[in-house]
Amino acid sequence: QIQRALRSLCIPLERLHIMKGHMMQDMCKGLSRQTHTQAKVRMLPTYICSTPNGTEKGNFLVVELCQNLVRILLVTLYGDGNMSPQIVYKIFDMPEGIMQGEGEALFDFIAQCVSQFLAETTASDTSSSEERLPLGFVFPFTCRQTQLDKAELISWSKGFSCSGVVGKDVVQMLQSAINKQKLSHVDVVALMNDTVGTMMTCCTEGRPCEIAVVADKGSNCCFMAEAHLVETAEETSGRMCVNTEWGCFGDDGSLDDILTPYDKSVDEESSNPGQKRFEKLVGTLYLGEIVRHTLIALTAEKAVFTGTDTAVLRRKGVFTIQHVLDIINNEDGTTDVKRVLEVLGLQPSERDCGRVQQICRAVVGRAATLHAVGLAAILSYMCQTRDLETLMVNVGMDGELYKGYSRFEEILQSVSRLLSPECMATLLPSRDGSGRGAAMVTAVALRLAAQRCAVDEVLGPLRLTHADLQKVQALMRQEMERGLGKNTNATASVRMLPTYVSHTPDGTERGNFLALDLGGTNFRVLVVRVAEEGITMASEIYVIPPAIMRGTGEALFDHIIDCIMDFQTKQNLMTHTLPLGFTFSFPCQQVGLDKALLLTWTKGFTASGCVGEDVVQLLRDAAQRKQHSGLKVVALLNDTVGTMMACGYDDPKCEIGLIVGTGTNACYMEEMRNVGTVEGDEGRMCINTEWGAFGDSGCLDHIFTHFDRVVDETTINPGKQRFEKLISGMYLGEIVRQILLVMTEKQLLFQGRASQKLQTRNIFQTKFLSTIEHNGLALRQIRAILNELELDASFEDCVLLREVCQAVSLRAAQLCAAGLAAVVEKIRENRGLDQLSVSVGVDGTLYKLHPCFSHNLQKTLKDLAPKCEVSFHLSEDGSGKGAALVAAVASRAA
Ligand code: ADP
Ligand code: MG
Repeated sequence: QIQRALRSLCIPLERLHIMKGHMMQDMCKGLSRQTHTQAKVRMLPTYICSTPNGTEKGNFLVVELCQNLVRILLVTLYGDGNMSPQIVYKIFDMPEGIMQGEGEALFDFIAQCVSQFLAETTASDTSSSEERLPLGFVFPFTCRQTQLDKAELISWSKGFSCSGVVGKDVVQMLQSAINKQKLSHVDVVALMNDTVGTMMTCCTEGRPCEIAVVADKGSNCCFMAEAHLVETAEETSGRMCVNTEWGCFGDDGSLDDILTPYDKSVDEESSNPGQKRFEKLVGTLYLGEIVRHTLIALTAEKAVFTGTDTAVLRRKGVFTIQHVLDIINNEDGTTDVKRVLEVLGLQPSERDCGRVQQICRAVVGRAATLHAVGLAAILSYMCQTRDLETLMVNVGMDGELYKGYSRFEEILQSVSRLLSPECMATLLPSRDGSGRGAAMVTAVALRLAAQRCAVDEVLGPLRLTHADLQKVQALMRQEMERGLGKNTNATASVRMLPTYVSHTPDGTERGNFLALDLGGTNFRVLVVRVAEEGITMASEIYVIPPAIMRGTGEALFDHIIDCIMDFQTKQNLMTHTLPLGFTFSFPCQQVGLDKALLLTWTKGFTASGCVGEDVVQLLRDAAQRKQHSGLKVVALLNDTVGTMMACGYDDPKCEIGLIVGTGTNACYMEEMRNVGTVEGDEGRMCINTEWGAFGDSGCLDHIFTHFDRVVDETTINPGKQRFEKLISGMYLGEIVRQILLVMTEKQLLFQGRASQKLQTRNIFQTKFLSTIEHNGLALRQIRAILNELELDASFEDCVLLREVCQAVSLRAAQLCAAGLAAVVEKIRENRGLDQLSVSVGVDGTLYKLHPCFSHNLQKTLKDLAPKCEVSFHLSEDGSGKGAALVAAVASRAA
């Protein structure tokens, strides 16, 4: 019979694995918005989103409500890594009747304790009402928290049943009671569970603690979860501490198959049968009871205490946890056992003592094992949701069972290691209970609030309102009009250059063409075959050596001809004379489709003797010098036009081309009658806006931030391309870097230490924004980027870095949308339409690869131009395909 009883208290390993799985499932259920109301493991958000970093300092008052008593503490933190806080405390016994009386009386009593404590203990610096004194409130009951300082009591437990509190905000109740005591300089800043306090207590410098287990009368655990998984709270970035309330695990029956008859008896005799099933297997309030019921059963089977009086066993609660611990903690011999049992009024034989000891060990050992199952579930959950292969984490520990049972720690370690071999938990004993932690939570809350203010101050200027964007849109429209006007064109910042492209493709274009693409990241030569079956291309990338980019124009164009001849030779095209379209992505004053004067070089080109010259002629001259007679240049175009044409081949509604890559620019189909700079009023013409220069006249100065000005000043063209410098790939990374430098200086990032690397210009690439803003915070990649920059970043640094990147890329997308809104609205008005449906062909790596840019652009455009329905198509190789199509449309029109 003894063996049977012992076996029933022993749970096989595979069953523990299953239980861990159930616990993890229940945790997910508790966190999910859809299922949390039915979840037994409540997973309550605590609104604690940060662990202490050691810089916290000041005086903090803590109120701990415990069983039968109230503990008031004054904790002074020195910003020294929380190594040596000064703690003064006083314990107040709760008078008879308070625990079951009126809620108001309970809170009045607590406030009186606070008042008395302050009067007795504090120096002048905390009793003066000028200095605010923040208070953290440890309230160990199940609450529905909606803010750090807002928590409705869900239900009382632990013998409390004060009236008029359930459903009320307990922070509010405490604050009112405190105010009544004329202590209005005391602010209740944070409320937390005792588990959370324990976790925080165990955090010291360089040693974050992200889990706490309290193995006490009841049992509970909290841990730092990824905030976006805590769907019951609004917070989406960073982490949040979740109070699991795992004591209710098993209330849906999932533990039924391991319950012994003794557990069932304990449950039936409890005040809440069927509830808190897990807690009733592991809480010290119940372990003695389980032993007692086991002994009752064994006595009835005559396996123990035969022939002696065992009436005492029928008294509920006679076996306390202390008795049980006394019985098992003595590893050798049974003298202690005998003594304990005799004190209880039993007359054990030597054999009885051995058996009772075995039973006690089994019951308490099982409790430790079950704690390990719960801990393993938390560990594996954290490891999985943080996308880690292995997890190393510190676990704060407290409670009667942890402290009182000598093998608890060993069992917890070894079993959780078996169940979650991928995780490595280090157990840290809590020294001062939850009080010190509560002070730290309060301190962290104040630190975060101050930090939030400082961050908002830095990022505020980058945040544009709807009205700001409307104004940018209106200004763009104004500049566009000025660019189109015959007399205003010369002074307009948006040049609105005619392209002499009058038609978008209609899909009937055919033939073989050569194309050149100069002015993007690569110089390329292509052959494009436009056939009924579709467009096919072959291309070759050629290098333009920096010496040639900055040498003479002749050398540059000679080099281009060399490349063309090389390409034609390789493609067996030397004997053919194919029409050539030249994508030349620099601002040009076009006077015909095949005649374009270079206005200025950009993007690092400075070849001499080209500005003011006809680029097509320069190419033809070079061909002549190289005696290449089979070259027929029919069109020169901008990459925006190429992009529009390439998309137009598939979608006749495509009348806009947009580039968001190294730079930004747009073109669109304008009515000839509006183009003051070209003769003729019939039909349409594609206009290359060159909107990158928008703002060069100063009209956008009001939205430029300090960071934008610094970035502008360090470019090769200060004061130029101002709009582009807010939007495009060449600059966004640098803007972010400038912000990071300022934030570091303000001690908001990297503990105030910027690496040498971060001080290097252009070291922060725009592609980093894409990685950092990628959904679900790919922490490992962010760390990798920061390590590359020799920055030692905390988790919170990563979260803030992401916020910075988001602010910069969002603004870029919004400004781009404001520009585009001006364009689509102009087209709509040109055509006298109430509603315009139009497509945009887009190219550029920033637009294509950034995770949010296109979404933000489209969303903002909808807001700014609600009467236009705009669809976006990615252009596949617009510069090549588009050049061929311009050449084809030109041949057809001719
Ligand atoms: P170009 O505009 O010169 O024709 P791209 O359209 O390829 O060339 O744009 C290149 C620019 O895109 C680079 O200057 C860089 O700033 C940016 N970029 C490159 N990779 C990414 C990325 N993954 N996410 C966002 N931007 C990127
Ligand atoms: Mg390009």
